Amino acid sequence: MPRPISARIDLAALRHNYLVARKYAHRDATRASASAAGGAKAWAVVKANAYGHGLLRAASALAEVADGFALLDLEEAVKLREAGVHQPILLLEGFFEVADLAHCAEHRLTLVIHCLEQLQMLRQASLPVRLPIYLKLNSGMNRLGLTPSQLPAVRRELAASPAVGAVTLMTHFAEADGDGGERCIAGQVERFARMIADWPEASTLPVSLANSAAILRYPQTAHDWVRPGIMLYGGSPFADQAAASFDLKPVMTLQSRILALQEIGVGERVGYGATFVAHRPTRVGVVACGYADGYPRHAPSGTPIVVAGRRTQTLGRVSMDMLACDLTDLPTAGVGSPVVLWGEGLPADEVAAAAETISYELFCALAQRVPVIAA
Ligand SMILES: *Cc1c(COP(=O)(O)O)cnc(C)c1O
Repeated sequence: MPRPISARIDLAALRHNYLVARKYAHRDATRASASAAGGAKAWAVVKANAYGHGLLRAASALAEVADGFALLDLEEAVKLREAGVHQPILLLEGFFEVADLAHCAEHRLTLVIHCLEQLQMLRQASLPVRLPIYLKLNSGMNRLGLTPSQLPAVRRELAASPAVGAVTLMTHFAEADGDGGERCIAGQVERFARMIADWPEASTLPVSLANSAAILRYPQTAHDWVRPGIMLYGGSPFADQAAASFDLKPVMTLQSRILALQEIGVGERVGYGATFVAHRPTRVGVVACGYADGYPRHAPSGTPIVVAGRRTQTLGRVSMDMLACDLTDLPTAGVGSPVVLWGEGLPADEVAAAAETISYELFCALAQRVPVIAA
């Protein structure tokens, strides 16, 4: 028998969450671009192996509903095409060298163009088709994106380049998920508008601004295309609001079993570094899950965990293949009892918060060695 750990992926929940994203994006469509009269379309963001859920698995679950797929890697985009994906595919960092462009053309990819160097490479390319591009403007995130002073050169490059097809304008919010969200969004939207104010044709171009946080809290930013990521996987982008409150369902459930029990007395310790000391006689359950499975090693004692359907907490340091939990108040739980590390019945966001990280990181860190069961 294999180790009793697995990740269950709920494909129906993934589809459901995608439709929730589109529903939010539709709600305020009338306040956004006229071209979005039918509601914004949604790129399903499937970068990082669909946030750890499996690229092809996620794509096939969304095949019937997704307006398009967004990811980073040319190779991953080609895999989607080879798997029969016919929708638009957006490369969120565009291309990296001229040689990529022939492949982008062959596979009809949409490219984010975030720097002048990319535009110069595009102008040199001789391609059989024009490539649709997303022109990424830096409105304050200061990671990727063209600046106001570069825009005159951008417009010259666009006009001169035979490889450029339909243009969409995009930007990315730095703080839509935080306390200062409203101010941040307003500031970035204003900068975005100012950047294109003296570019007459720009006012007719489609626009894509919103990630999950903006879709959920600021649907007025939905415009023509939204870019939901974490919400598709049932994670909340907010530290102060649960995913369930947006009708999002967990997609990945990391599950395992108790493989051993220890009964320890007061003053006894648990695990490496002896970071947990029992202050009462304690029944310790040892779970077949460790940091080599993707469980965060820095999750402290007290991190929530579900055993046999009941919530309890971890004890001591997470080791490579195991972690311990408190079964003192769960007398019927024992060797073989089912354990949920996160997912159904225990939001990954709660585990992430205890470990001082975000559910994005937990999902992406799911280890290769964990078998996946998709249903
Ligand atoms: C990852 C990413 C997204 C999705 O962000 P979430 O917070 O997961 O919704 C959207 N846009 C861009 C440019 C991204 O890189």
